[in-house]
Amino acid sequence: MGDPRMQLRFLPYTLALKHAFGIASNTRTSTPAMMVEVERDGIIGYGEAAMPPYLGESQATAAAFLEQTAAWLAAVDDPFQREEILPAIDALAPGNTAAKAAVDIALHDWIGKKLGAPWYRIWGLDPQKAPVTSYTIGIDTPEAVRAKTREADIYKIIKVKLGRDAATDRATIAAIRDVTDKPITVDANQGWRDRDEALRLIEWLAGRGVVFIEQPMPKELLDDTAWLRERSPLPLIADESVQRLAEVPKTRGVFDGINIKLMKCTGLREARQMIVLARALGLKVMLGCMTETSCAISAAAQLSPLVDWADLDGAVLIANDCFDGATIVDGRITLPDRPGIGVVKRESRG
Ligand code: MG
Repeated sequence: MGDPRMQLRFLPYTLALKHAFGIASNTRTSTPAMMVEVERDGIIGYGEAAMPPYLGESQATAAAFLEQTAAWLAAVDDPFQREEILPAIDALAPGNTAAKAAVDIALHDWIGKKLGAPWYRIWGLDPQKAPVTSYTIGIDTPEAVRAKTREADIYKIIKVKLGRDAATDRATIAAIRDVTDKPITVDANQGWRDRDEALRLIEWLAGRGVVFIEQPMPKELLDDTAWLRERSPLPLIADESVQRLAEVPKTRGVFDGINIKLMKCTGLREARQMIVLARALGLKVMLGCMTETSCAISAAAQLSPLVDWADLDGAVLIANDCFDGATIVDGRITLPDRPGIGVVKRESRG
């Protein structure tokens, strides 16, 4: 008999990006992460926190929160009681959404393994309905954008980061259109500060095969965004403006949809609630990610049959993925027939 109590372990990990990745506010080559394991009854559940520095969490803040969580989890009698455990962990401290997501993912993985079923099956979802995923191209020179667009051969949709300045935005779209006529989704990452200029740019983009615009304006400019939405020929999707379930209603009349990410919303439990609420409010739903390994990506992929658009290319963009899990076949997310979140750890390469 092993220890009947649930143990939680964590290990700092640095995600190495294959290409330097530029967005409206910064460019980076790595992302700090924390890998988490929960273990009980000889079963290990895996989780992950990915923490781009501009969001305010770090390996140090995650370690402090996870120490606290480990002590709390060790006193839990019934680990199947997600609806008791996860809200209680959320209440241990404010913020820490990525660290909370790591625990949520690991607990879901453990429960699914204990039940012997993948989460898409526990939730009753059809894995054949998993959507295509976009492939993300960061802000770069036109030559690099053309090269990355060619590399994105298997993907049916290109997602591109815009928002540094109008000239770069137009040159970037033109560079993609030199290579392909695939649909493009645009993420401005709050980069457009003037609503009239934003409208002119969106009208120009609408004529170039762009499908929607993610977070066109700064997250707090909801009145300007609502003005823009009334006039925009393309749907507007909230990302930075909406982190968690309680914020979904404020998007009414401001955005046409929301981008849900496990690292923003504390994990699978709340992400699924956000999908249900968004649908009830008539919103479109996108499922996104940070740069993450196949651990967090495969967890999000379990929910993907429920959404309109997926942007789950995070594991493809890193050079040191330490898991095998959901894969991308012909541009489509493919869910493995494995229990829990569907991942296996790769052999360490030393
Ligand atoms: Mg975004």
